[in-house]
Amino acid sequence: MLDRREFVKLAAALTTAFSISNLPEPVAAALKKINPEAIPKLLYLQGQSCTGCSISLLQSESPSPLTMITDYSQLAFHADLSATSGKQSIDLIEKFISGQAGEYILALEGSIPDSMPIACMIGHKTLAAYLEEAARTMSAAVAIGSCACDGGIPAAEGNLTGAIGLQEFYAKRNIDKTVVNIRGCSVHPDWVWQTIVHLVKIGLPELTENGSPSLFYARSIHETCPRYHDFQQEIFAQKLGDKGCLFKLGCLGPQTMADCSSRWWNGGRTWCIDANAPCIGCASPLFARKKDMPFYRINRQG
Ligand code: SF4
Ligand code: SF4
Repeated sequence: MLDRREFVKLAAALTTAFSISNLPEPVAAALKKINPEAIPKLLYLQGQSCTGCSISLLQSESPSPLTMITDYSQLAFHADLSATSGKQSIDLIEKFISGQAGEYILALEGSIPDSMPIACMIGHKTLAAYLEEAARTMSAAVAIGSCACDGGIPAAEGNLTGAIGLQEFYAKRNIDKTVVNIRGCSVHPDWVWQTIVHLVKIGLPELTENGSPSLFYARSIHETCPRYHDFQQEIFAQKLGDKGCLFKLGCLGPQTMADCSSRWWNGGRTWCIDANAPCIGCASPLFARKKDMPFYRINRQG
């Protein structure tokens, strides 16, 4: 978790992306560790998003967010974190997306309002227009969080904006672009930062059939769950807080591919099932789609 000192350093580091002078010495020293010419920059855009994924990324503990954007990658722009705003930000985004600012990785958080493009504007241009143009210039695309991957909560049944994820957005336009899907609502910081380090230092990671890095999404929550033994013995929790498998309380662990049970959350302190809460399938492509699939429900099939 960021303390105040680290936050101030992080904010200072971000100003460097805009050539703001008088850097604090520790920031200047950290920036010397990488050759900015040698690695692609990270252009972080947001669509229909609650910014929860960005908040989660800032909770990374080891390495810290500051280390991630200075030693291992270089964040060029982020709407919430960057020191600039207005025309300066728009000019910067335009420069990258038109291909004039060198190599960059596009990171998208949030879904794209495909039926209502004006619902998501950056300056006077739609997010959709930027994303179409970016397909020609970016080195790689990373969809961060369930909204950017599959539409997520903004794509819930009955939504008016036609919210979709980045992969579907490109497929609908016959744009052949590999999108690395980091699913989760919100995402685990390890999933994102380690994928970005892989892209920067090694290249495209191995992907599952859903386009997510196999490193984190190859096995289901269910098969590595510490309560799997209870499931086999048919020892089921009857209400929240009970011991036993949470399947009858609607746990979606059997249908959800992610490594939460071995990685844990909040710096390894806990995770959903450890906290006696069923997995709500936040890393599943079907997350939050159907009105008749509330997060918490009694599983009548059980
Ligand atoms: S609690 Fe959920 S993930 Fe764990 S064994 Fe039961 S159904 Fe599977
Ligand atoms: S256990 Fe399930 S709901 Fe919890 S973070 Fe992991 S995928 Fe999401």
